Amino acid sequence: MDFDTITAISTPMGEGAIAIVRLSGAEALSIADSIFKGPSDKKLIEVPSHTIHYGHIVDPINNETIDEVMVSVMKGPKTFTREDVVEINCHGGLVSVNSVLQTVIKGGARLAEPGEFTKRAFLNGRLDLSQAEAVIDLIRAKTDRAMNVALHQMEGRLSKLINRLRQDILETLAHVEVNIDYPEYDDVEEMTHQLLLPKASNVQHELHKLIQTSQQGKILREGLSTVIIGRPNVGKSSLLNSLVHENKAIVTDIPGTTRDVIEEYVNVRGVPLRLVDTAGIRETEDIVERMGVERSREKLKEADLILLVLNSNDELSVDDEQLFHAVEGMDVIVIINKTDLPQTINMTQVKELANNYPIVSTSLLQEEGIEQLEEAISSLFFEGGIESKDMTYVSNSRHISLLTQAKVAIDDAVNSINSGVPIDIVQIDLTRAWELLGEIIGEAVHESLIDQLFSQFCLGK
Ligand code: GDP
Repeated sequence: MDFDTITAISTPMGEGAIAIVRLSGAEALSIADSIFKGPSDKKLIEVPSHTIHYGHIVDPINNETIDEVMVSVMKGPKTFTREDVVEINCHGGLVSVNSVLQTVIKGGARLAEPGEFTKRAFLNGRLDLSQAEAVIDLIRAKTDRAMNVALHQMEGRLSKLINRLRQDILETLAHVEVNIDYPEYDDVEEMTHQLLLPKASNVQHELHKLIQTSQQGKILREGLSTVIIGRPNVGKSSLLNSLVHENKAIVTDIPGTTRDVIEEYVNVRGVPLRLVDTAGIRETEDIVERMGVERSREKLKEADLILLVLNSNDELSVDDEQLFHAVEGMDVIVIINKTDLPQTINMTQVKELANNYPIVSTSLLQEEGIEQLEEAISSLFFEGGIESKDMTYVSNSRHISLLTQAKVAIDDAVNSINSGVPIDIVQIDLTRAWELLGEIIGEAVHESLIDQLFSQFCLGK
């Protein structure tokens, strides 16, 4: 397919030594030639593919030199988009990179829409949809581990698995088809049910497993939403600071001064935490503090992990007990802080309240216990084998939603088989599951969905 030639700045906006302006399309080379002057008169259109050339970008209208550049020439189909691609490595900085971009546009390219390069890769058959989406995740990946998940997905792990499941369903459907077409054999219905059950159950099981990993996948991509709670002055801000290793939240001696909800990303041994410091969830008369409290309550409900901080130098109070009640059933780590001071807290009582939660002692002032806390966090979330790199995680909410719908269809099919419902009804559910799985890898997706998906990319991808 031949599309028009698009261009965009492919490196992040802002100051940098080098920035890249990328062109893709049938005219990429001729447009580049119209604005590029090398030391010899050699045209880019004539040079071998996958080579780099030194020269200058020159305004085609007034001959003004815009920038000194290195130009990479990559001829299709062995490129990201499968089209001819030219990458102009120019000097970084908003002004210079923008003038190069403007010159390329003067030369005849069109400014790309967000994600349009990747969309081309998809439309030209270079990537399937889940791989293209993995590119989005790759751009957004917040830690190395999240990056790994995105990379594996890009390599087509998820696609392979989905294809296999679809193949299984298809074979099952074919089997049903045969039996519907040849109903003259005796017992066909009964036999079909018996044959179908293990096949459908297997797909059901695989889907279940995939959906289960999706929770971990989501965590890896977006960060584990983590809320620090505790009475005023127990050391919540100090904890946040220790974890972040920089002093963004204000630490003071006055109780209740952490008034705003502040978010920070930290990487704790491969677990990305989205930390939310809070004003505590204690009822208060102070209106400013209460705004913080209301917001904390909301955050609490959404949290994946709660760090509940207690003061070792103070007796447990009713407020502390209420905090335990407020987080019942969630993933909680109890932190006994200020262990450098004389211990006043009743640990037997703490253990009763804490039930099965891990308990870690810290002196944030003396920077003690942080290691143990990090260990507790990572073991809480990597215990289930999440560490193994070769697992396929589903980390994209569109995939999760489609998998869940496909699972419902398969559940229906299995139930129907079990209760002896006529086989053509089972066939409908199986077909639906097959179609839904197809949507994950981009078979039979609507044009509008594709546009919406690719618009999520940053410009230049
Ligand atoms: P928050 O109100 O829960 O956010 O508590 P802060 O982090 O603001 O800490 C309140 C006070 O306790 C500050 O003066 C901190 O320096 C102090 N603090 C925090 N952690 C410790 C600790 O482990 N030992 C001692 N002695 N003081 C601490």
